[in-house]
Amino acid sequence: MPSRFDLGPKPRLGYADDGLERAAEKRTDPAALAAVEADPRSGAYAIAGELVVMKKLPGGDERQFDPLFTPAEARAFGVHESVFLGMAGAAGRFGFGIDAAAIEALKAREDLKLADLRAIAAHGLIADQHLAAIGEAKALLSWHARHRFCANCGTESKVVDAGWRRDCAHCKTQHFPRTDPVVIMLPVDGERCLLGRSGRFPVTMWSCLAGYIEPGETIEEAVRRETMEEAGILCGPVTYFASQPWPFPSTLMIGCHAQALTRDVVVDKNELEDARWFDREEVALMLMQQHPDKLGLPRPVAIAYHIIRSWVAGEAGPQSGA
Ligand SMILES: [Zn+2]
Repeated sequence: MPSRFDLGPKPRLGYADDGLERAAEKRTDPAALAAVEADPRSGAYAIAGELVVMKKLPGGDERQFDPLFTPAEARAFGVHESVFLGMAGAAGRFGFGIDAAAIEALKAREDLKLADLRAIAAHGLIADQHLAAIGEAKALLSWHARHRFCANCGTESKVVDAGWRRDCAHCKTQHFPRTDPVVIMLPVDGERCLLGRSGRFPVTMWSCLAGYIEPGETIEEAVRRETMEEAGILCGPVTYFASQPWPFPSTLMIGCHAQALTRDVVVDKNELEDARWFDREEVALMLMQQHPDKLGLPRPVAIAYHIIRSWVAGEAGPQSGA
């Protein structure tokens, strides 16, 4: 079904498709890894918590930066953790965790720019292809920062496999980086969909509902439970749309559409500031940034935009008359 609305070209989803071959066999081969790091074609991302270190471009206008350093350049910043992300053709890609003590000196440098990854993504400060690899590095580095001690016996654990495992020498437990699944969904009732807004959002912004999947729960069950808990709406069939790694700190967003079976919204004020039905026309105006009250949606970097847009365009999710 062709869309009734001119939504413009479909923008790219953020943090997805890093284009790297993960080359897991190199993780256990220190000699191969050292050769990759020494190769002049290789590069490293320098990350300090939420901040990413970037180079200013020669004659740059401060709207575009280069986040890729040679491994030697990035090591000189003061590195406490190193993870191997994969190969971009013949070039290796690494993520380096920068010492907190080095940050102020880096901020003072004329040739560098430090910015929060969310701001970098929102304002398009780097070429798109870097975003997913930086997300991968950030998720891994933040796992190391939060999991230094064995969860089984409390002994400090040791990084192995180029950052992809931590081993406890005392009780021999192996620990692997975690990814937390979250469902993010758009309940649909004919020509209307349900959007909510958290108290953390700007006052004009609305989005999909979302929540963590609990142990023992399927994706479909989590979609139905979260929609019931947050908005009091019962859902029937759930369809998978797409997923997105979300490195804050290490979530996998699982995007779905759901068929709503009831209509009366009861907002859980502990979870949401508000939730209500929106007609397809109104959501189209929000997507096109033409809403008369300036109501808006998340930026295209987030999967919520794509879940909502695909339904408005008639490309996915329950369609009335279908
Ligand atoms: Zn242990």
